[in-house]
Amino acid sequence: MVTTRTPLMAGNWKMNFNHLQAIAFVQKLAWTLKDAKHEYEQVEVAVFPPFTDLRSVQTIVQADKLDIEYGAQDLSEHDSGAYTGDISGEFIAQLGARYVLVGHSERRTIHGESDEVCKAKVDAAIRHGLVPVLCVGESLEERESSDNPADVSIAQLKAALADVKPGTDIVIAYEPVWAIGTGKVATAEQAQEVCAAIRGALGELLGEESAAQTRILYGGSVKPANVASIMREPDIDGALVGGASLSIDDFASIIRYHSHVGT
Ligand code: PEP
Repeated sequence: MVTTRTPLMAGNWKMNFNHLQAIAFVQKLAWTLKDAKHEYEQVEVAVFPPFTDLRSVQTIVQADKLDIEYGAQDLSEHDSGAYTGDISGEFIAQLGARYVLVGHSERRTIHGESDEVCKAKVDAAIRHGLVPVLCVGESLEERESSDNPADVSIAQLKAALADVKPGTDIVIAYEPVWAIGTGKVATAEQAQEVCAAIRGALGELLGEESAAQTRILYGGSVKPANVASIMREPDIDGALVGGASLSIDDFASIIRYHSHVGT
């Protein structure tokens, strides 16, 4: 089976940049990538701004005909109704977003999102035509207390994808919690070991074809200096980038990892 997975470099802005800053950032990122002759078919680029920036990002992407994709950082498991503060996948899809993050570790820990909630959110994303980027990964404690570092990720994956059909467009982000925002990046071998196990589990859940087509990203302190070694691994198809995605130079350099792959 010959499958080519287009690498995806995704910037999770978290709660940074208001809508004016978002417009300026996306415009400048597009100029920088154009100057560098970036080919978006070779490496896809997506940003995940706060909800309040999405309409502005949509406007600039459409007006300037940019190839940059965008998504939301979360969605409600419900479609509409009395859920104050929540945002429906329908509204996100209406804004032209392609992606939505589900189960980021900050949602799981700060907002207590369980595997059941993550499953409902994956289902809601798919229901509204969005591609869920499901985040999974173990804490340091969980890594140290288990013989298999992939156990937590696989359990989270199985729970969230229980009702997903083979062939559905989804993205998985392996984000070891101990590496997020800490500067402690997983080694390329550590990341590959878990991403390979995730691909194996996807094969069991959705069949080999879906497993071969699904992009698995690594996330956790990805920087220009470490992205090339991570991207050399066979089961890693891109990165979910937090801190470094807030700098044009750093994010553009991560997107252009091919140009420093020998470093
Ligand atoms: C993230 O928030 O998904 C993330 C990976 O953050 P950072 O790159 O800052 O570790």
